[in-house]
Amino acid sequence: MKIIDAHSHIDYITHKYQSDVVGTICCTTDESQWSKLIDIMNQDSNVYGAFGVHPWFVNSVKDEFEKRFEQLLKSDTQFMVGEIGIDKNKPNIDKQIDLFSIQLNLAVKLKRTIFLHCVGAWDKVLHILKQYKQSELPVIVAHAFNGNEDILQKLLACSNVFFSFNKIDVCGRNCCIEQIPKTRILIESDGKTKVVLTQLIETITDIKSDETMSNVIYENTQRIITNG
Ligand SMILES: [Zn+2]
Repeated sequence: MKIIDAHSHIDYITHKYQSDVVGTICCTTDESQWSKLIDIMNQDSNVYGAFGVHPWFVNSVKDEFEKRFEQLLKSDTQFMVGEIGIDKNKPNIDKQIDLFSIQLNLAVKLKRTIFLHCVGAWDKVLHILKQYKQSELPVIVAHAFNGNEDILQKLLACSNVFFSFNKIDVCGRNCCIEQIPKTRILIESDGKTKVVLTQLIETITDIKSDETMSNVIYENTQRIITNG
């Protein structure tokens, strides 16, 4: 089995710790991690980088952020964008919206996959996404997807949205896996050492009753890395 972790962080390079994992997508949470992630990527070609500032760290953003972020993304066409988004449970929602919009806008302009963190703010995120034509939007990975049925249907209607999971509650809401086409499912550790990716594959294989899921998920992850 070959697995690529679709969402981790710089302190947990999943393929160093878990069997069958051959690559890891690492997201930064603030600007201070950008150069660290570049160092890690230079030493390990199986680490794929997503750069950005997480909504929890909106207050870390300094002047002329947008300029530096654009420069960074232009320095390497492989650099993706993440972890970005909006989190209703954290302060400074207006600042979070501004920061998300700036980062999304650059991802659209430069056609980079984004890794989206959204908690309780799907109305806001969808409102911002609607400002673009669907054909303009890059690949969007809804990380640790937690939306309700209505949100799920809206996102399913947008063909470039993928869904990544780090826990699957078979009896609970993650039964939405049944409704998501297999070509749009991803798995992730989110940098949590307790998440065992081979177990997630097994659970999804059971839910989908499809023995090809591990291959399909691997191919899905390669598609998001190459932006479609
Ligand atoms: Zn994360």
